[in-house]
Amino acid sequence: NVANESTSSSSQAPAPVAQTSTAVSVRKRTLADYKLGRTLGEGSYSTVVAAVDLSNKRDYAIKVLDKRHIIREKKVKYVNIEKNTLYRLDHPGVVKLYSTFQDSSSLYYVLELCQNGELLTFIKKLGSFDENCTRFYAAQILTAIEYVHSRGIIHRDLKPENILLDHRMYAKLTDFGTAKMLESSEDGTESDRANSFVGTAEYVSPELLTEKAACKSSDLWALGCIIYQLLAGRPPFKGSNEYQTFQKIVKLEYIFPPGFPKVAMDLVSRLLVHDPNERLGANNNIDQLKEHPFFEGVQWSELWNMPAPKLM
Ligand code: ATP
Repeated sequence: NVANESTSSSSQAPAPVAQTSTAVSVRKRTLADYKLGRTLGEGSYSTVVAAVDLSNKRDYAIKVLDKRHIIREKKVKYVNIEKNTLYRLDHPGVVKLYSTFQDSSSLYYVLELCQNGELLTFIKKLGSFDENCTRFYAAQILTAIEYVHSRGIIHRDLKPENILLDHRMYAKLTDFGTAKMLESSEDGTESDRANSFVGTAEYVSPELLTEKAACKSSDLWALGCIIYQLLAGRPPFKGSNEYQTFQKIVKLEYIFPPGFPKVAMDLVSRLLVHDPNERLGANNNIDQLKEHPFFEGVQWSELWNMPAPKLM
């Protein structure tokens, strides 16, 4: 088995069969339960297709992973990490995994459909976001990060390609294949560092480059890069190759383009801080980040009910 089969449902999940603690058995889904539609995207070892559940007519995105390819490319660990972390997460800011099944050739992950695709596509299309739209998306991404961290998980590869937009234009974190579950120690505290190098050059935190260790605060560094990119249209650290990008990161070499809002400058410069402990919101103090003047006026409790601002 490349991945253990499992089925899950949650309060949000339109479970095909009632799944309560008293339910004895749940019929395993198969591909025949869905009508497949258009291809939504391709990954390096997966294809994601739109699908309708024939029993309830609901829309999903099914990620199809080719078993032979995964084994050949030694990605078994990553597909299992993605499945196991997503099953632990249930938040409007995280793409929901409803169920998994497999046949002889493929693994299938039945995911929440994000009809509007990647946040990156909108940044490219519009050039950049205005302050109001940036505030809304930064706030949604921040609360999603807060939730993921509260479940003892570090994402480690946050970037606009890994933030999808659903039919309401709400942001949802995806791509948990390189996420890290922090281990709880005997006293119930989590070890807060995760080793092994992962991430995408432009969003990689300096501690990953210098100490080869990521922590929750590494996701806050990436958030700083994303907020900068939403307003500036490009990430803060971008060299002509990966090495040049890494050099810029370790030297904290970035500049704000003309017109970059002052209050956002202050926020970004408090996130793009070398010492992970000194970043605003670090050490489980996310509230301090939410209280930054950039977020003034955000109704945190309404963030997942209110209409998304129109992107212009
Ligand atoms: P790689 O594996 O190379 O890192 P990836 O993580 O983007 O790539 P997938 O997760 O297979 O690979 O996703 C492929 C594409 O499908 C993504 O770029 C995204 O645009 C689209 N996609 C993924 N999940 C969904 C979803 N739930 N709803 C809509 N589109 C999706």
